[in-house]
Amino acid sequence: MKSSGTFRTILEFSKECKSSMLLSVLCAILSVAGGLVPFWGVYQIILLFFEGTPAIEDILLWSGICLTGYLVKVVFYGLSTVLSHMSAYRILESLRLAMTKRLIEAPLGVVQRYTAGKLKNMIVDRVETLELPLAHMIPEGISNLLLPAAVFVYMIAIDWRMAAAALLCVPLGAMVYAIMMKSYNKQYAAYMEASNHVNSVIVEYVEGIEVIKAFGQSAGSYAKYTGAVNAFKELTLAWFHATWKHMNLGGAILPSTLLGILPVGMLLYIDGSLSPAEFTQCMILSLSIIAPMTWFTIAVNDWKSIEYAIREANELLHLPVLPDAAAPATISSYGVELQDVHFQYNEKDGDVLHGINVDLPEGSFTALVGPSGSGKSTAARLIARFWDINGGSIRIGGIDIRQIPLAQLSSLISFVTQDNFLFHCSLMENIRVGKPTASDEEVYAAARAAQCEEFISRFEHGWHTLAGEAGSKLSGGERQRIVIARAILKNAPIVILDEATAFTDPENEEKLQHSLAALAKGKTMLVIAHRLSTIRHADQIVLLERGRVSAKGTHHQLLSSSELYRTMWQSHIGAKAWAANSSFKEDSLHA
Ligand code: ADP
Repeated sequence: MKSSGTFRTILEFSKECKSSMLLSVLCAILSVAGGLVPFWGVYQIILLFFEGTPAIEDILLWSGICLTGYLVKVVFYGLSTVLSHMSAYRILESLRLAMTKRLIEAPLGVVQRYTAGKLKNMIVDRVETLELPLAHMIPEGISNLLLPAAVFVYMIAIDWRMAAAALLCVPLGAMVYAIMMKSYNKQYAAYMEASNHVNSVIVEYVEGIEVIKAFGQSAGSYAKYTGAVNAFKELTLAWFHATWKHMNLGGAILPSTLLGILPVGMLLYIDGSLSPAEFTQCMILSLSIIAPMTWFTIAVNDWKSIEYAIREANELLHLPVLPDAAAPATISSYGVELQDVHFQYNEKDGDVLHGINVDLPEGSFTALVGPSGSGKSTAARLIARFWDINGGSIRIGGIDIRQIPLAQLSSLISFVTQDNFLFHCSLMENIRVGKPTASDEEVYAAARAAQCEEFISRFEHGWHTLAGEAGSKLSGGERQRIVIARAILKNAPIVILDEATAFTDPENEEKLQHSLAALAKGKTMLVIAHRLSTIRHADQIVLLERGRVSAKGTHHQLLSSSELYRTMWQSHIGAKAWAANSSFKEDSLHA
């Protein structure tokens, strides 16, 4: 991305803080004006000395003026910095909010291309790198631009030849820097790539630490990790080796304004066209240009890091979004129809669903079964419009879901997945996620219906136990019951449930079934079933095979009509019998 693109993005996100940014600029200008006063005051004092014995009152007066100017400079610089920091934090906030908003609006598949580590790096770390340069760019940039410019004009007023002499070091220093910067863009790009690689490898290392420990691998043997860290070190060292000579030479030449001022000033003094007072003043003035010049060499680096952060932010900000319907749809019934649904995650792998036709009448209970990878979860996610389908249609109450605004669609569906994701807040708030406006009584009632009350009361802090704290003490079934309570509270007319596979102990199973029954009451229910015994009473069972519906009917109909279903049922009751014999006294064969 070009610098102008970076600048445009920053301007776009600084709209809200335009006034504080403008004020910051104004304060910075006032600060520069204040900063010039001492130079003028000192010049007057020098003049007094050159003119004879100066009166103490005059010296005190000019000293006072210098001090006032200095105070104006410090105070306004401080104000400018405060305002620019406020603006910088505001820009960071709006950038982060816009990035996460886009993640919600994008199809799930697009978001899943990024690892959690990569997203965290983009939204948190990379955006954070903007704060320092953004907050300092206005006050420092303006004073470092204006101060030398004003000093230069002042020197022209004294003698234009002295002004030109002060700039003699600029082309020399710039030449050295230009040689150094020849490969800067390439090296910076390599540096960022290596830094990103180290970042993602570290996240992977930390996430996989349990496996690394379990398999007795030390950090040293984790070749990918050490390799990335070493490569990063080598790259930064090589970059440093390639540039340090130029950097130091440039850093020595660029601010050496006296290099031109001293010889030219001497000549003009001998020539009689420059007074000793003017010569002294020019020397003092030229020294004030040094700091700004050094600042610009650092600013180049800062700007580059801004460019990279904005480029990554823009990548997220321009993710494709699901087209959203503008006007709310009028939906009077909650049956769901999938008609000739075709879907592919990507062109390379081709269709995952090949013309699915399924009808879920309002208030009915449909089970989706089939071998792993047959497309059950995909079909369920498409109803919630996590992706858009490639062909056919999905309708709720006869209306295509693409005509229903996403927020409205989300209010129509409760989607309970196997992830059982709990947020880092109290169990109470975790249930309230289902309906943020729910009263405590409503939350209790939902939890009671989902059979959660008894285990929540086990915790010392009860409802206020943090999910993280409770996490290790909650069984998989208990976690799922919390998520079901959330869905009961939401009370959406359509419920999609990706049934968990693991919770086979009879006590949990029974409670889970009770909580599911509470959730299903009066709803259009679609259950992705892994344990067939739990869905044998479904109104309709749909058997998926390699992305196609291979059979439909009740449990008994499928037992007689589908060879695959019969085999799946037999292996399921076989597994249950095995579980019953080995650990539980469950009469699975009569399930
Ligand atoms: P099931 O739920 O029946 O196990 P899925 O719907 O999860 O099946 O998967 C159906 C097919 O789609 C599989 O071949 C799977 O590899 C593929 N698939 C699932 N999720 C994705 C994804 N996010 N990106 C690409 N392919 C996917």
